[in-house]
Amino acid sequence: MQPDCSCPFEVRTAQKMRDFIEERMESLNAAAYVGTGGATLFESSSAENSEDKEASSDQQIDPVTLLNAAPGAFVSGLKEPLSASLWPYKVVQALARESTLATFVETCRVLKIVEGASADETDAGHTTVHTSKGELIARTVIVATNAWITDVLPELEAHVKAVTNTVLCSKLPVPPEMRWPIATISCGDGAEEVYINQREDGRIVLGGLRSKDQSLCQSDSGPGDSAIAHALQEWFRERFPAMASVIGSYEYCWKGCIGIPQDGMPIAGRLPGRGDMVYVCGGFAGHGMPRCLGLAEGLVQHICGLEVSEAEYMARCDVRRFFTDAILHTP
Ligand SMILES: Cc1cc2nc3c(=O)[nH]c(=O)nc-3n(C[C@H](O)[C@H](O)[C@H](O)COP(=O)(O)OP(=O)(O)OC[C@H]3O[C@@H](n4cnc5c(N)ncnc54)[C@H](O)[C@@H]3O)c2cc1C
Repeated sequence: MQPDCSCPFEVRTAQKMRDFIEERMESLNAAAYVGTGGATLFESSSAENSEDKEASSDQQIDPVTLLNAAPGAFVSGLKEPLSASLWPYKVVQALARESTLATFVETCRVLKIVEGASADETDAGHTTVHTSKGELIARTVIVATNAWITDVLPELEAHVKAVTNTVLCSKLPVPPEMRWPIATISCGDGAEEVYINQREDGRIVLGGLRSKDQSLCQSDSGPGDSAIAHALQEWFRERFPAMASVIGSYEYCWKGCIGIPQDGMPIAGRLPGRGDMVYVCGGFAGHGMPRCLGLAEGLVQHICGLEVSEAEYMARCDVRRFFTDAILHTP
């Protein structure tokens, strides 16, 4: 998790995640949370990077001395003090335990959402959610299926694209004396990004280089893309040769799906054209952890008529930015 320190919303949301883990999961250990910070590394000194460097000279790091990078591999690096490593699945399980619907959440698949389709007149003004376990009649529906949002809300197809990311995990841990003093590293932007996470046990998790994906596959089943896996290993070997030689081969290779809105901002809020009953929260691209909790909270506050604590950020994410006409969805 690498919150953007210049975005107050992300800073607050990352802190909320940390507080939740500490208070509700009893300790940070329960989520394998390591808050030693991270770094962004730059491979070229573009004007943009120079501006960043000038603005935060006290944040600069030397990738060679701090991270044992190959000399010349990176031109500079910046500290990311709020970055942390955690085990998202454990946090999701803990969040689900807070909900009375936890069992259902784990086993049920939503197939279709249809407004007011029930034959029963008492259901007028409600929405029918068709699931793999039967029908649910609901007054309010929140779709939070991220990369799979368009499976449930096809009217967003033109606005949210699903892509996959290939990830590797090293077989061996880095020996303690060689470990980085930080938990995460990011290098490059968008589809070019490589992200690295040094796990609590010293193993290296390495992912990204989505730009090399030629498969156009949008499924997260099966192993990761072999060409990307190879490119990631090469990338790491060239830039961190000493570490690459001690971690040896990679034991796991998998892929995950992310949903990317056309303008890069997440989407949240009430979807027009669905009888004012269907809401969406997602489209976090590869940067959801410092955003999803805060947006979900803001959306629920809005639905419950409470004061929205992140109103300004919520407004920027409003799904209605994609639509100018009111009626969009034809059941
Ligand atoms: C490989 C990879 C690496 C990432 N790295 C980072 C990172 O370093 N930092 C960061 O901040 N973020 C990262 N992300 C993004 C982050 O994981 C997501 O932004 C975050 O998990 C968003 O949470 P979410 O609950 O919205 O979506 P998800 O975690 O994607 O959850 C969506 C859920 O919806 C379920 N679902 C889908 N369709 C249906 C349906 N029809 N019915 C019922 N359930 C359905 C899925 O099974 C899934 O459990 C990464 C994502 C991937 C894939």
